[in-house]
Amino acid sequence: MAEQLKKPKRKNPVLRTRLPALPPGSRSRIALGLTAAAAQGRFELQQCRECGTVQYPPREACVNCLSIHLSWSEQKSGGRLLADTTLHHSNDLFFRERLPWRLGLVRLDCGPTVVVHLHGDVPPAPARVRVAARLDRAGQAVLVALPTKETPHMADDRQLREFTCDPKHRKVLVTDAKTATGQALVSALAAAGADLIWAGHAEPWKKFPGFDELRTIPQVTLLPLDVTDSKSVREVAAEIGGKVDILINNAEHNRSFGIANRSGVETARAEMDVNYFGLLRLAQEFGPALRSRGADGLASAVAWVNLLSIYALANFPSHGTFSASKAAAHSLAQCLRAEMRPAGVRVVNVFPGPIDDEWNQLLLPPKIAPQALARAAVRALQDGIEDVYPGDVAQEWLARWRDNPKALERELSS
Ligand SMILES: [Zn+2]
Repeated sequence: MAEQLKKPKRKNPVLRTRLPALPPGSRSRIALGLTAAAAQGRFELQQCRECGTVQYPPREACVNCLSIHLSWSEQKSGGRLLADTTLHHSNDLFFRERLPWRLGLVRLDCGPTVVVHLHGDVPPAPARVRVAARLDRAGQAVLVALPTKETPHMADDRQLREFTCDPKHRKVLVTDAKTATGQALVSALAAAGADLIWAGHAEPWKKFPGFDELRTIPQVTLLPLDVTDSKSVREVAAEIGGKVDILINNAEHNRSFGIANRSGVETARAEMDVNYFGLLRLAQEFGPALRSRGADGLASAVAWVNLLSIYALANFPSHGTFSASKAAAHSLAQCLRAEMRPAGVRVVNVFPGPIDDEWNQLLLPPKIAPQALARAAVRALQDGIEDVYPGDVAQEWLARWRDNPKALERELSS
């Protein structure tokens, strides 16, 4: 049974902050297919389209028939642990800091035999396991063998926690926590065991039902923070920037209509100011502090979450300027991801379809409930996933977009 994670001691401010070491991060171009699937929480391996052989590690041709017609397809996770060992020495700095480290060899039911990182609750070989692809701190996919059934405090396993961004015992800032989604995020984080949650809120004169009740959650601290105001962002970053382990940017400005239904650029500018420049302000002020704390022990800085939209992938004309601002934010988030990666801090992008909130009242269902969206975002942190498409609508549009982006564009515009 994994040892239950205790709340980490307060950091001694006099001690030097360690620079983050990363696991080996280079992969061949072919092997990035494994990483791309793991980033979305899928376990995919290369499969031959001619003979059906599943292979690992990824190669240019099929090991069975030499065909070059290979595709990445989702695989069953079951397998048998053939051998296990514990590493007590490593020449790699990342692993040397984390020894001892458990490794194993698993024969997957779908064919190949793979080297895996072993969860502490997996019994010694031979044993049944389930294998999952997870992102490591370098942002590359690795294979992890887990027990076949949930075990107590399973997520607290020291090795597994190196691959996830679990909010348990971590300090989280949620921007614009007043909205329905913001409140749901704060509640979900509290339920997941976050140590402290700063609930950022702008425009104190504007009342939102339910917001005042957040005060009753013991971990929650309400904090004035306006992402459209550089001074406000700078001051809050100076105050708490060095303590934030996870930042969730939930601030969003959403108005319906496209181009022709409205004159002037004020609405579009307000959308850009919150959705794009808001992210930029936060990234400039909080980014350096998070980057410097990527190796800060058990509760290090670990993730940055952006609430984007599936409309960032293809414009939805009845929310046309909003879609454009989300596309801009998506592009900026990719830049942020590249800049945070050397510190081992993961940028998680959430792409929901229409949310069931006041700005989508005129849209017909299905719409995703704020609580479901919040649970999906927290789940992504617990699983260490990079790109999340919560809800049926987002999943369906994602499938269409992957199949043919042009088809989705036409469908959304009709
Ligand atoms: Zn083949």
